[in-house]
Amino acid sequence: MTALLRATGLVKSFGDREVLRGVDVSLDAHEVVALIGASGSGKSTLLRCLNLLEPIDDGQIFLGDEDISDPRVDANRVRARFGAVFQAYNLFPHLSVLDNVTLAARVVHGMPRAAAEERAMALLGRIGLADKAREHPDRLSGGQQQRTAIVRAIATDPEVLLLDEITSALDPELVGEVLELVRELAADGATILMATHEMAFARDVADRVVFLDAGAIVEQGPPAALFGAAREPRTREFLARFTA
Ligand code: ADP
Ligand code: MG
Repeated sequence: MTALLRATGLVKSFGDREVLRGVDVSLDAHEVVALIGASGSGKSTLLRCLNLLEPIDDGQIFLGDEDISDPRVDANRVRARFGAVFQAYNLFPHLSVLDNVTLAARVVHGMPRAAAEERAMALLGRIGLADKAREHPDRLSGGQQQRTAIVRAIATDPEVLLLDEITSALDPELVGEVLELVRELAADGATILMATHEMAFARDVADRVVFLDAGAIVEQGPPAALFGAAREPRTREFLARFTA
């Protein structure tokens, strides 16, 4: 089986600081992979390199059969095949919820407004926010905003969904509703790579957990193996901080 997304030997530096030091990571279709690691270990940089938001210094990235790390590739076209949600500030504050959700579908994918809005309303209805479609994002709670950002990310039917600590800026009581939506997308067969500190969620939902330390993958495996019986001392040390 060939991976849907496969990166090999990824190297990325900021100035003389090497932030990714030869990362190999792959994602099969419909697989949910949790990327864990301390703050500063390179999780966000890895996600941003994978969808070409950051140029890499070395390595290769394949999406399907295409070498998307080829410098001749049109990065905007490739990025449109991904959905991405970040920690916070995902929505455009000056656009309505509906326009936020439909923008990429209309502008990037050329979907007619009526079709884009029909799909957007169905997605907003699914997360219980159809009645907020004409509001601006500042009228939504943080959890509603993040769920809208997720819905916006899937509105274009992306091949891969990249989620970067999407609950870490939320008040604790709002985390559950956002994770529940991710759980549903996973159950629906989405292909997801998510950087997260929600270990219980990763254990529950991920097919595989990847532990990144100082820009390198130290260990990866099924959640039960990694959380239950990590082989590497660095992994155990990191995980111990979450079970204290
Ligand atoms: P994580 O998401 O795991 O917390 P990041 O990928 O954000 O880690 O950061 C990894 C390292 O790269 C950190 O030392 C961070 O300071 C550095 N870094 C990230 N983005 C930039 C940038 N645009 N310019 C310079 N350094 C950066
Ligand atoms: Mg980060």
